[in-house]
Amino acid sequence: MRAVLLGAPGSGKGTQGERLSQQYGIPQVSTGDLLRAAVAAGSELGKQAKAAMDAGELVSDQIVIGIIRERLTQPDAAKGYILDGFPRNFTQAQALDEMLAALERPLQAIILLDVNFEVLMRRLTGRRTCQACGAIYNIYFSPPEVDHRCDKCNSDQLVQRSDDNEETISNRLRVYEAQTAPLVDYYEAQGKLYKVDGEDDITKIAKNIGQILETVR
Ligand code: AMP
Repeated sequence: MRAVLLGAPGSGKGTQGERLSQQYGIPQVSTGDLLRAAVAAGSELGKQAKAAMDAGELVSDQIVIGIIRERLTQPDAAKGYILDGFPRNFTQAQALDEMLAALERPLQAIILLDVNFEVLMRRLTGRRTCQACGAIYNIYFSPPEVDHRCDKCNSDQLVQRSDDNEETISNRLRVYEAQTAPLVDYYEAQGKLYKVDGEDDITKIAKNIGQILETVR
C-alpha cells in the first residue's frame, strides 16, 4: 500500500498514520517526525531545518525531498508506506511522482482529512505530547485521566510541541492553505484523491480510510 495522508496541521494525519501503519504492517513516514529527530540529534540537517520549523514555514524542498528519497528506499518501505506531511507543495508532489514512476510503483491513494479551521485551532493549541513515550493527548478533546500525567507511562512530562504556539500555528495554517491545499486539485486530476470527514471520531475515520484503501489494493 502506497498512500498519502493529506490535510492541514491538526487534521489527524499522525494519529491515523500510526493506526494504518500497524494495521498494514508498513511504515508511517512523517517528514515532521524525521525533521524533529534531526533537530533533537543536533545534526547539520536539523540545524538547517530548525529556523523554518520554529517559524511555521516549510523547510526547503531540497532537504525534505532528500529525506524522503532516502527513507523510501529503506527495506521496510518495500511493501509500502503511509506518507504523513509529505508532499506539501507542487515541487514536492512532482518530485515524488517522478521518483515513484522510475520505480514503477506509483502512489495508489491520497486521503484528504477534511477538518474546519476552528476545530484545527483547538486541536493544535490543545495538543500535548508525552516526552517519555510519545503518547499524544488533547486537553480539550482527549485529556489524560489525571491532569499533566501520561495514562500510558505515568510520566509527568506532557509538553506542547514548540511549534504549537498560537503565532506559529496561524502561520502553519496559512502555509497549508497557500501551498499544500492546491495539491487537492493536483491529485483529483490524477483520479487518486479520496476525501474523508476528519471531524468524525478517530475509529470511524480509521474505518472509512480502511475501506478506501481496500478498494485500491
Ligand atoms: P508536521 O509535524 O508535519 O506538522 O511538520 C512540522 C514542521 O516540519 C512543518 O511546520 C515544517 O516546518 C516542517 N515540515 C514537515 N514536513 C515538511 C515538508 N514536506 N516540507 C517542508 N517542511 C516540512
